[in-house]
Amino acid sequence: MVALVGRPNVGKSTLFNALTRSRDALVHDEPGVTRDRHYGICRLVEDHPFGLCDTGGLSGEEEGLAGATARQSRAAVEEADLVLFVVDGREGPSALDESILAWLRKSGRRFFLVVNKVDGLDLQAVLSEFARFGVEKIIPVAAAHQRGVPELLDEVIPEL
Ligand code: GDP
Ligand code: MG
Repeated sequence: MVALVGRPNVGKSTLFNALTRSRDALVHDEPGVTRDRHYGICRLVEDHPFGLCDTGGLSGEEEGLAGATARQSRAAVEEADLVLFVVDGREGPSALDESILAWLRKSGRRFFLVVNKVDGLDLQAVLSEFARFGVEKIIPVAAAHQRGVPELLDEVIPEL
C-alpha cells in the first residue's frame, strides 16, 4: 500500500487518477472517520500491482495537524508501506509543506518527495528549491500530463 499525502491542491488526486488510470473505478469511500480516504489499485506495471490510498489533504488549520483530515492522513500513513509526499512545483516549498515534512519524519514511515506540476518549469531550479527538505528521493512529475509516472513507478515498485 502506497499513501499519497500533502496539502490541498498539490495534485494528489490527479496523481492517484494517473496511477490508477481511472476516474472512479475501484475508488470507494469508507464510512465514518475514513471517508476521505480513497483506495485504488495501480496496475501500470505488469506483475506488480499495488494498492494506493489518496487522502483529503493536510490543511494545517487543525492545531498540530490533529484534526479530522490529519487523522485520516495519519491512518493512511500508518497502513502504508511507502508514502508519497506530494508538493506543488509551481508554488515551491511552503510553510505547510515544512510542517507536513516534520510530521512525516516523526511518523517514521519511509517516504519520497514527489514534486508535481513541473510541466513548463525549469526542472533544475524547481528541484534545487526542494533540495533543502533533505529527502533522499525527489521525483518530479506532471500528473495531469502523465509525465514522470514511469520514473516514479521505477522508484516505488522496488520498495514494496
Ligand atoms: P489535491 O487537492 O492534492 O488532490 O489536488 P488535485 O488533484 O485536485 O489538483 C489540484 C489542481 O492542480 C487541479 O486544478 C489540477 O488540474 C491541477 N494539477 C494537478 N496536476 C497538475 C500538473 O501536473 N500540472 C498542472 N499544471 N496542474 C496540475
Ligand atoms: Mg484530492
